[in-house]
Order: sequence, then structure tokens, then C-alpha cells
Amino acid sequence: MNYFLSDEEKMIVETCRELAQKKIKPVREHYDAEGIFPWDIVKEMADLGLCGLYIPEEYGGMATQASGGKGIMQLVLSVEELSKVCGGISLAMAATALGTFPILLGATDAQKKKYLPDIASGKKLAAFGLTEADAGSDAGSMRTTAVKKDGRYILNGTKQWITNGGEAETYTVFAMTDKNKGTRGCSCFIVEKGMKGFTFGKKENKMGIRASATRELIFQDCEVPAENLLGGREGMGFIHAVGTLNHSRPGVAAQALGIAAGALDEALAYTRQREQFGTKISSFQAVQHMLANMAVEVEASRSLLYNVARAVDGGATDFAKESAMAKYYASEVAMRVTTNAVQIFGGYGYMKEYPVEKMMRDAKITQIYEGTSQIQLNEIAAKMIKESAAKKK
Ligand SMILES: Cc1cc2nc3c(=O)[nH]c(=O)nc-3n(C[C@H](O)[C@H](O)[C@H](O)COP(=O)(O)OP(=O)(O)OC[C@H]3O[C@@H](n4cnc5c(N)ncnc54)[C@H](O)[C@@H]3O)c2cc1C
Repeated sequence: MNYFLSDEEKMIVETCRELAQKKIKPVREHYDAEGIFPWDIVKEMADLGLCGLYIPEEYGGMATQASGGKGIMQLVLSVEELSKVCGGISLAMAATALGTFPILLGATDAQKKKYLPDIASGKKLAAFGLTEADAGSDAGSMRTTAVKKDGRYILNGTKQWITNGGEAETYTVFAMTDKNKGTRGCSCFIVEKGMKGFTFGKKENKMGIRASATRELIFQDCEVPAENLLGGREGMGFIHAVGTLNHSRPGVAAQALGIAAGALDEALAYTRQREQFGTKISSFQAVQHMLANMAVEVEASRSLLYNVARAVDGGATDFAKESAMAKYYASEVAMRVTTNAVQIFGGYGYMKEYPVEKMMRDAKITQIYEGTSQIQLNEIAAKMIKESAAKKK
């Protein structure tokens, strides 16, 4: 399918493909097995200028109106391409985007100037701290608090399962500045690694995306300067969180799409090698139909995702439903396609020597984080009903 990518977009795809094939493929199995954070690959990404694709040029990034807007399409293309080879390693960059979106969307100019250039250059990674042990889908029930005292905010609480936790330098952290106001009492803070009272929990031992680091962020009387209140206004945290997820979900969709496309490539190649009953398994119609269905679903999720990314870059203001659709659909497809890829490999697919076993494990998280599939469906339906009611008025 021709998506009429610009020359710049084609170059990003080519650069990421080469990086993935030459540097990521040789290490992905080892990094997955040992849970190694891919600092060497992050360095390569930084050298190739891939860390600032979605950060405006004025803050050291590459996103300009001339290159298509907010750089969401560029981000999506790069995450897709890297995830074809490893959905865990690609996450260092995708999760940095997640942690950076609150700054892009809600920070003051001074905050942007202070924090964005180092992220754009790849010198620093970022992370997004919203989830807590008892506040997952229901993020509004968070317990972390921030109390203003002597020109600082004192943060107390623990954020759970934060991607890039411990590795990133810059954290966008959500805390209640006024518990009585519900979600309107939530504020966002830029917290730096090393700030007094900020430590990390143990690295989680996960099913998939094992090259990604997931840790608790622990705040014990953590002192954050008042100027690190995002946008300088209390009570805006939930708005920043929702806006961020609307912008970042296409990134998860891209990760899911890449994993699915990578698994399809592996499965297709395998059917042309493997022989049973004296013939290649690609000659069996049952196998052909599986491949065809996988290809249709991969292309459908790519079409939806690219359209959403183009709409965001093109200046769409209300894309929460479409962003949720892209994330929901691509992650469901990733799970189905990787499961079928394992099926096509038969018993070999179940073994760690073959890449589809890891791809199936990596795919699962895309149905869970940044809002589970059920939460995406809730949001899509709620928006549909609201739109329908507005039309009737
Ligand atoms: C590896 C990993 C990395 C992560 N990285 C980050 C990160 O960087 N930053 C961050 O802030 N968080 C992160 N998370 C947290 C992630 O976003 C949450 O796990 C996710 O939002 C779901 O919350 P939960 O796990 O508490 O599940 P729960 O909310 O407890 O959900 C349990 C089940 O109930 C269903 N459910 C819940 N509410 C509803 C409802 N209203 N309607 C229908 N079904 C519902 C869910 O779909 C799910 O099936 C990460 C999680 C993991 C596992």
C-alpha cells in the first residue's frame, strides 16, 4: 500500500530499518533474556537524530510545520520500524515521548527551554508517572500528594510500573494538590532524578518488553521547586494527563503495528522454508488463509494509525476517539497476529530460539498500558454517544 510518505519520512523509515537490522536484531534476544536496558541503542538513536522527531525545532527537535506539524507521523513511523524487530528496545524512545508530551502540551516556555533540548538530543530520557498500586484505569483515585511549602512542593506517594523508571532523568509526575476537588485537584510536576526524597523501587520482572525498565517512583517528602509545577498552574494535571494520552496512544499503536508486521514477516518467510507432507507449508490453504488474514489486519491497523497521525499533525483538535481506536485496534491485531505467527511456526514457534515467541509476549502489553482495551472501548463509545446527542440538539 502506498501511503505517499514524504522524502523525509522515507528517510526516517530507512534509517530506523537499518538501525533495527544492524544493531537491534543481533542483541534483542540477549537483552530480552537478561532484561538489559538498551543504552547503547539509545545512544545510536541520539546520534541519528531520532530522539527529537516530535519536539519542535525551537526546542532542539525536528518537528516543523514544513515537515508536517507536530511530528506524530514521524514518531509513529520510527516506533513502528524499530518495533518490527524489538518492541521492548523501541520503548525507550516511545516511553520518553509519553513522558515528554505533558511538557510539550502544558509547560511554560521557560520549562520547555529547560527540559526539551536535552530530551531532543537524546542526552536525557523521560518517563510518565501516573499509575499507582490502587489507581490504574481509575487514575483519578491516585493518592500521591503535593503540598506547597516555602517555595517548594513536598511530594509523598508511590507511582507503580513506570516505564523508563530509574533510567530517565526527567519525570512528569501527577499528584493531588487538593484532594477535595477530585480530578480538578490533580497537578503535574517535572521531577528530576536526584531531587531530594525521590528514589526508585526494584526493576520489575516482566512477561514481555523485557529490555524496557519498569520501576516504582517513590516520593518521601520529595522537594520539588515551585517552578516545576507544570504550566505554573495547580489543578491542570488531569487535563495534561488526558491530552498526553490522546497524543501518545498512536505511539502504542505504532509499537503494536510494528510487532505485528514483524511477526507476519517472520511467519511468511517460515512458510516458504518449512516442509511437511513433502511440500512447503505455504502450499496449504489453511496456512495461506492465516497469512492473508494477518496481512489484512496489519494493513488495516496501519491505515487507521497513519490517518490519525496525519490528522493530529494537520491540526485536528478533537481526536481522542480516533486515537483510542488506533490504539485499540492495533493492539488487538498485534495479539492475534503474533499468536497466529506462533501457530504457523508450530512447536518451533513456542521455542525461544525463534523470534515469534518473544513477539507474542511483547504484543500483550499493548492491550494493557496507556489504557486497557476495555478502557479504549469505553472512551470510544462515550464519545460516540456524546457526538450523537450533540447532533440531535
Ligand atoms: C509494563 C508496564 C508498563 C507501564 N508503564 C506505565 C508508565 O510508564 N506510566 C504509567 O503511569 N503507567 C504505566 N503502566 C500502568 C498501566 O497504564 C496500567 O497497568 C493500566 O492503565 C491498567 O491499570 P491496572 O493495571 O491497574 O488495571 P485495572 O485498572 O485494575 O484493570 C483490571 C481489569 O479491569 C478492567 N477495567 C477496569 N476498569 C474498567 C472499566 N471502567 N470498564 C471496563 N473494564 C475495566 C481492565 O480493562 C482490566 O481488564 C504500565 C504498566 C505495565 C504493566
